[in-house]
Amino acid sequence: MKIYNTLTKQKELFEPTNPGKASMYTCGPTVYGFVHVGNIRSYLFADTLRRYLAYQGYEVKMIKNVTDVGHLTEDDLAQGDSGEDKVAKAAKKEKKTPEEIARFYEADFKEVEKEMNILPAHYFPRATAHVGQMIKIIEKLLEKGHAYEVNGNVFFDVTSFADYGKLSGNTLENLKVGARVEEHPDKKNPWDFALWINAPKEHVLKWESPWSLGYPGWHIECSAMSTEYLGNTIDFHTGGEDNIFPHHEAEIAQTECYTGQKFVKYWLHARHLLMGGEKMSKSKGNLFTLPDIKEKGFSPMDLRTLFLSSHYRSQLDFSWESLEQAHKNLQKINDFVLELELNGKKFEQALGSLAQSMDISGYEKRFGEAMDDDLNTPLALSIVYEMIGEYNRLHADGNFSPEDYGKLLSHWKKMNSVFGLVLQGQAEIPEEIRKLIADREQARKEKDFAKSDDLRSLEDTKEGYKIKQKD
Ligand code: AMP
Ligand code: ZN
Repeated sequence: MKIYNTLTKQKELFEPTNPGKASMYTCGPTVYGFVHVGNIRSYLFADTLRRYLAYQGYEVKMIKNVTDVGHLTEDDLAQGDSGEDKVAKAAKKEKKTPEEIARFYEADFKEVEKEMNILPAHYFPRATAHVGQMIKIIEKLLEKGHAYEVNGNVFFDVTSFADYGKLSGNTLENLKVGARVEEHPDKKNPWDFALWINAPKEHVLKWESPWSLGYPGWHIECSAMSTEYLGNTIDFHTGGEDNIFPHHEAEIAQTECYTGQKFVKYWLHARHLLMGGEKMSKSKGNLFTLPDIKEKGFSPMDLRTLFLSSHYRSQLDFSWESLEQAHKNLQKINDFVLELELNGKKFEQALGSLAQSMDISGYEKRFGEAMDDDLNTPLALSIVYEMIGEYNRLHADGNFSPEDYGKLLSHWKKMNSVFGLVLQGQAEIPEEIRKLIADREQARKEKDFAKSDDLRSLEDTKEGYKIKQKD
């Protein structure tokens, strides 16, 4: 598999650190608001990577953190030393404790992931439970001369790390001519970032430390949780593109200075989901959540299909029209698979003697080639649509061999272990179709072949059942 590495700006062959294994760290939610579909796009991309690694036989270990402290409102601009804690701010607004806020929105996040059929990470560490580990790393950075303490605040000295800027291109040289950041009076260099902040009296989230009663910076938490659960060097680190700078740049600096080893082999970032040309975000409020999507009559799987239909590194502007199209495409897949399941059963007895009518493994091979090319899910899906098209044509011409039902189904299932689409399997055939099948059988007995359904009709052809859409 080749995958685009933000660090090297090219597609690279995946070579695991440990043969047969793959480790992944995904920057998870800051739990101060409902998960929106932009967040889902990033998590789904990480899920696709994980699923494809598993499809290829790798044993994957995936960690996704929960940010419940340290992420400040100004973190995209400043260096962790100004702004309010996002969770504490939401707590004030909703008149709850930060813990209540964090647990509530963490539960929402987990529910959304479940509905989207995103495989749960092996562990979801919370930042607040790892402050001890963060302090340990900060102590080491101070000891090694990569950090300094002033007035109970500890900053990372960016000039102490020659590679600063290697991920984002924001080297100190480039930053000099770029936008200036607000300078904190205790900092030596405006781009030094906060590892630990001395908490003002009114600040609720704070811990004892060797430097002050304070709280950790946002970046240090991911270094702490990543090294804790996955070791010093990991294969993949994923996030949305907004994470590249300053978050991931800072993670590299502090982790590599702490361990003296390479932190991450492959840095992967999903492009943003946009809303009217702007990044969908919690802070701007220009967002849709999964319940909004469902309220409009779409399913989580429609959304999944929409996201898989565009490449994770291309921008996507959210629209209801494209979701409608995704819904139709999913319906096509649904009917196809349902037919395979019904007919697989129907022709179970007759198998073993008939010739194959389709080159099914050829499709799976092309699917693999598409996925090998930087997880090209739109191409992989189009190969599936092509496969369905050929199946339908052969069926219509009376040239489809029932022998192929079972084979098509097993190849589809393998491919779908990567797409992760939850379909209406035989066990949950929609009532309307179930009734149709029963009616159809009854009608056949009564020699009445004219019955049909309003939306979908079921025909009994010599090659087996055929579900037809009526627009
Ligand atoms: P947050 O909860 O804001 O920390 O974001 C959680 C994850 O979602 C991070 O990896 C972000 O990069 C990602 N993310 C946030 N907004 C978007 C968006 N509009 N499109 C894609 N990913 C996003
Ligand atoms: Zn992170």
